Amino acid sequence: MNWISKQALREVSLKTGWQVQAYCLMDNHCHLVLETPHANLAAGMRWFTTVKKSDRRGIRYPKGIRRKLGLHTESVPSESDNCDDCPQTARQKAKSWENRRVKQSIVTLDLEGVLVPEIWIAVSEKTGIEELRLTTRDIPDYDVLMKGRLEILDKHHLKLSDIQEVIGCLRPLDGAKEFLGDLRATTQVIILSDTFEEFAQPLMRHLEWPTLLCHRLEVSDGRITNYRLRQSNQKQKAVAALKSLDYRVIAAGDSFNDIAMLTEAHAGFLFRAPVAIQTQFAQFKAVETYADLSRLIKEWL
Ligand SMILES: [Mg+2]
Repeated sequence: MNWISKQALREVSLKTGWQVQAYCLMDNHCHLVLETPHANLAAGMRWFTTVKKSDRRGIRYPKGIRRKLGLHTESVPSESDNCDDCPQTARQKAKSWENRRVKQSIVTLDLEGVLVPEIWIAVSEKTGIEELRLTTRDIPDYDVLMKGRLEILDKHHLKLSDIQEVIGCLRPLDGAKEFLGDLRATTQVIILSDTFEEFAQPLMRHLEWPTLLCHRLEVSDGRITNYRLRQSNQKQKAVAALKSLDYRVIAAGDSFNDIAMLTEAHAGFLFRAPVAIQTQFAQFKAVETYADLSRLIKEWL
């Protein structure tokens, strides 16, 4: 059985969420018994057959396919690959690999639940209003979630300053500051959050002012009257924009509102995500500690 074909199957499974029950990879065809929780059999088969064809012919995977799949198992050509007939070709191959290996990377991280506590849960605990405990982990539709929150604030006559007072008492999660500091010393990091500028400032100070892209509130007489998304689906669009600048993007998040970002990125990881989200989006590797997340991210740098 061909090792690279098995590897290709493994990578496609990770990328698509396929649950492979059994397989038999032959020289010119294969048999697969698999479940497709995300109804993506056709897309996965396209990737898999393209990769397998390339493998069978002994050529490199087509441009773009490796990146799409996030493969990183290609053997590294070296000077020892030189032969008398084609020394230049081997050197060029080695140089080409080096160029790709050092491609600049950038990491995009979610904020709440990944680096700092959930702001609204803290507000709920401080005020005793149980309904404010709901987060993007519970309600996938952000608009529904935020409109509900604003109604609750109005009902209880809570103003922006009340929320800011709670946020002022929050600190980064244990180990978050060190994790982020180490990552920022290694590569570029951008925080992509669905929080608001008015909430984020004290938290950014504790994290030593990393770059943050988020939204803005509308406030009148201290009362939060509405919220303004800088753009819809901003996490996914930010990753797509970074990719258009030729960055390799590695992303990590914990909630439904991070899935589009993780999907768009070259590599995506779930961090301390609820089991339901880990199960639903099994194509993303899930970790619980900063050490593990750091290790996974650095494998892709
Ligand atoms: Mg989060």
